[in-house]
Amino acid sequence: MNEQTLSMRLERVAAHVPAGARLADIGSDHGYLPVALLKRGVIAAAVAGELALTPFQAAQRSVRENDLGAQITVRLANGLEAIEPEDRINAVSLCGMGGETIRDILESGKARLSGEERLILQPNGGEQPLRHWLMENGYRILCEDVLRENRFYYEIIVAERTGPVLYSAEELYFGPLHLRERSPVFLAKWQRLLQLKQQTLSNFAQARQSVSDEKVRELAQQIRWITELLA
Ligand code: SAM
Repeated sequence: MNEQTLSMRLERVAAHVPAGARLADIGSDHGYLPVALLKRGVIAAAVAGELALTPFQAAQRSVRENDLGAQITVRLANGLEAIEPEDRINAVSLCGMGGETIRDILESGKARLSGEERLILQPNGGEQPLRHWLMENGYRILCEDVLRENRFYYEIIVAERTGPVLYSAEELYFGPLHLRERSPVFLAKWQRLLQLKQQTLSNFAQARQSVSDEKVRELAQQIRWITELLA
């Protein structure tokens, strides 16, 4: 992967960035996403935010080598602290991190959001707590995508702040739009997860002492939901 050839995962993220957007890519690593989108003329400007020095320097290098210093600002910053009001950001991407990490970044930095931004989120697991945060903060899920690349399943969640929204526990778990669409990739993902969860439950049964009843009940509930989904 590089700034010309994105992974399939980042290509699918890129497809949700609105034309002409001013994008903040938080946790940008090499900055491949904003650099590719700018080179393609899809976005007008970007901020690439990074917490860690080595990826921050890698992003600086990508921007310099592509001569995009006037359009992309690279900032060493924690989460949404990379965004300044004068950036006039209207799309924020947070990709390749756990859903809980993305949630925590949104929660601790929400004062930096105007509420006008489209959020394009690609969590690696932890989708349920992330969707819960979106609901609690008045974000409606506009689009959900799932893909398989290199044996892993990746989810993409696109949301905008629209005001109060209510999702059921199952919608938060599976994704409200996924539940309606039930695409073949989505069903394959849950088929695989069902096997893993059934295996975990039987491991729990053998090690009963060390696992709390609540954890077992939670897992059994998930297995019931997945079984119903796939029925
Ligand atoms: N977004 C890229 C992608 O999807 O390919 C890179 C994903 S990489 C696995 C996660 C990046 O997020 C790392 O470079 C890490 O340093 C950065 N990161 C983690 N927590 C962060 C935070 N609170 N603020 C900014 N960057 C963060």
